[in-house]
Amino acid sequence: MEKKRITVTFGDGIGPEIMRAVLRILQAAQAPLEWDVIEIGEAVYRRGISSGIPAEAWDVIRANRVLLKAPVTTPQGGGYKSINVTLRKTLGLFANVRPCKAYSPFVASAHPLMDLVIIRENEEDLYGGIEHQQTVEMTQVLKLISHPGTESIVRYAFEYARAYGRRKVTCMTKDNIMKITDGLFHRIFNTVAQEYPDIQAEHQIVDIGAARVAAQPETLDVIVTPNLYGDILSDVAAQLAGSVGLAGSSNIGREMAMFEAIHGSAPDIAGKGIANPSGLLQAAVQMLVHLGLGETAQRIENAWLCTLEDGIHTADIYREGLSLKRVGTEEFTDAIIER
Ligand code: NAD
Repeated sequence: MEKKRITVTFGDGIGPEIMRAVLRILQAAQAPLEWDVIEIGEAVYRRGISSGIPAEAWDVIRANRVLLKAPVTTPQGGGYKSINVTLRKTLGLFANVRPCKAYSPFVASAHPLMDLVIIRENEEDLYGGIEHQQTVEMTQVLKLISHPGTESIVRYAFEYARAYGRRKVTCMTKDNIMKITDGLFHRIFNTVAQEYPDIQAEHQIVDIGAARVAAQPETLDVIVTPNLYGDILSDVAAQLAGSVGLAGSSNIGREMAMFEAIHGSAPDIAGKGIANPSGLLQAAVQMLVHLGLGETAQRIENAWLCTLEDGIHTADIYREGLSLKRVGTEEFTDAIIER
């Protein structure tokens, strides 16, 4: 089979450890992939490049169209731009897809039946970084919600639901307060929903919606929501499912796509060899599906599930009485490869 060429970046903190683990699994599964490695993140910021991404990296990302990215550290303090926001906006990655599923009874979860997908608008809302000091005592940020941007994400959510055999799409906004911006999102949702009579559509105000994510996530299926609410809800949902270390995400555009774990660079455990590589592995599985390599994706997913079922767990998901063996990143990776 002809090999597909992707771009890989090792990131910061636990990034290199978990990326090495994932590449080892991809190689062991004989995934027909070749990769170019680029450097982005902390070291690049320190060289004085405020975007954290050097010019030559952009050429590689654009040529290969698919990026597998480990988490990067955004240095504290002014002047540094978020690499993720820059990548999403520059590459037009309008849809952020985060499946959050419980792996009960093998991984402890407060909600054993939860299996939901959060589809978040990825370019607009409050993430434009357009902020200013209005007066000495007043600050302001611009919230942007567009008709084409909203229509794209809502349509993506319904198409996703159809493609993955899901039954319901729930839209979450705060349109009781932001009647024009969130109101537009809700109205477009209602219009697009009419084209998908086979899929149940509902709307919830995001505060009660968030309470439902926390208390009864098993009643939700696909959630579509503007950028900020999606950012918050998806971390809550991933943690409820078991651990932030378990979930991967796709950032999808019309021409490019980027796949990453949902968690950050975890500097508190970097270099200790204990990080869970599952989030990045889930992202790699989503990437294989995107590339049309479903069989390899399934082989890896099954080996990973089998490892969890056998009670071989990294520290973040290890529970006395439920897990059999607490392992580090390397041993967990070996166990997946063995299976
Ligand atoms: P974090 O997600 O890095 O860590 C939160 C907690 O979860 C920590 O206790 C950490 O040890 C634990 N954790 C995270 N991933 C884990 C894993 N794979 N295995 C085991 N435990 C894991 O969030 P943070 O501490 O708020 O952020 C650290 C840095 O990461 C910041 O610089 C932030 O800007 C950056 N960040 C990057 C991305 C990204 O690149 N996509 C996303 C979020 C945060």
